[in-house]
Amino acid sequence: MNSRQIVLASRPKGIPVHENFRFESKDLEKLKENEVLLKAEYISVDPYMRGRMNDVKSYAPSFEVDQPIAGGVVAKVIESKSNSFTNGDIVFGMLPWATYSIEQSENLRKVDPSLAPPSYYLGILGMPGLTAYFGIMDIGKPKTGETVVISGAAGAVGIVAGQIAKIQGAYVVGIAGSDKKCNMLKDQFGFDETVNYKTSKSVRKSIAEACPKGADVYFDNVGGEITNAVVLNLNFHARFVLCGQISVYNSTEIPVGPVILPRLLTRSVMLQGFIVSNYSNRFNEGLGNLAKWVHEGSLKYKETIVTGFDKLPDAFLGLFSGENYGKMLVSIE
Ligand code: NAP
Repeated sequence: MNSRQIVLASRPKGIPVHENFRFESKDLEKLKENEVLLKAEYISVDPYMRGRMNDVKSYAPSFEVDQPIAGGVVAKVIESKSNSFTNGDIVFGMLPWATYSIEQSENLRKVDPSLAPPSYYLGILGMPGLTAYFGIMDIGKPKTGETVVISGAAGAVGIVAGQIAKIQGAYVVGIAGSDKKCNMLKDQFGFDETVNYKTSKSVRKSIAEACPKGADVYFDNVGGEITNAVVLNLNFHARFVLCGQISVYNSTEIPVGPVILPRLLTRSVMLQGFIVSNYSNRFNEGLGNLAKWVHEGSLKYKETIVTGFDKLPDAFLGLFSGENYGKMLVSIE
């Protein structure tokens, strides 16, 4: 069996370019006991993967140069030498960017395509959905009538975080990079107000206008100047949920900006960073509630699905130029 795969050709400096990726073909070996042969159906592209392209110690190991890039994949079992899987099963795993791959069965989790479309297990019923759930429910803890501000609001995590805050009875303000995204958040996802950070003359003032009572919770996906502007609008005892910092993932130097710590001090703000895997022992709780809300219709979902294995690098790069509405995925024909 021949598979196509994408390896890290070189480590990016700043924004990744096509030369950092290389397509290869590989002959797969015969299956051994306990292994399964998988055909990729959907491959996830996620901002954190940019960090794994650097040679820096972090919570997820660096990708090796000349080795396949890997991440969340939903795949179909084509052949099995495991008692746990049979042909046709749909599974989730952290798998290489490859059309076909061989994996040990203990690294795979069966997903039920009759409960939700398979791609949902990479988004709302997967890592991004759980990130939104625990960030809002465990750290932000909005109370009825409080104001929640979300940056990166139209992406995979933000769109879910905003809706969960609405379910908790909050007034929700989303920050996103186009009028089309802002309109989508209000018209389709129930956000109360939005700020287009690309066209606003003063993001700080626009947030102040969108949050007449100030902000009680800030769910940060982007960092940088947007975060500085939000922090200046935080209320006394606000909670700052530090989820992501995409605006600096491609920085080649440690960014220096207006200092926000004095404001956190004077407003007694609680800031907590988190990695979703901190909550792995509560994933069943999170997935149960997410699935219930999706089923009830109180949690809507959005995907941007790019078709074709060859498009994986472009889809990944598109995360940094805001090409996605909701979760960005690649479907493999
Ligand atoms: P995403 O929001 O679906 O995609 C990235 C979005 O970020 C883009 O669509 C773009 O939207 C925005 N963006 C890109 N560059 C930007 C910049 N320089 N300034 C402001 N906005 C920018 O990605 P996601 O999967 O939901 O992840 C969102 C954040 O959460 C990321 O920072 C990610 O690393 C983090 N995350 C953290 C955890 C955790 O465990 N802590 C887990 C998952 C994700 P616009 O068009 O609005 O600019």
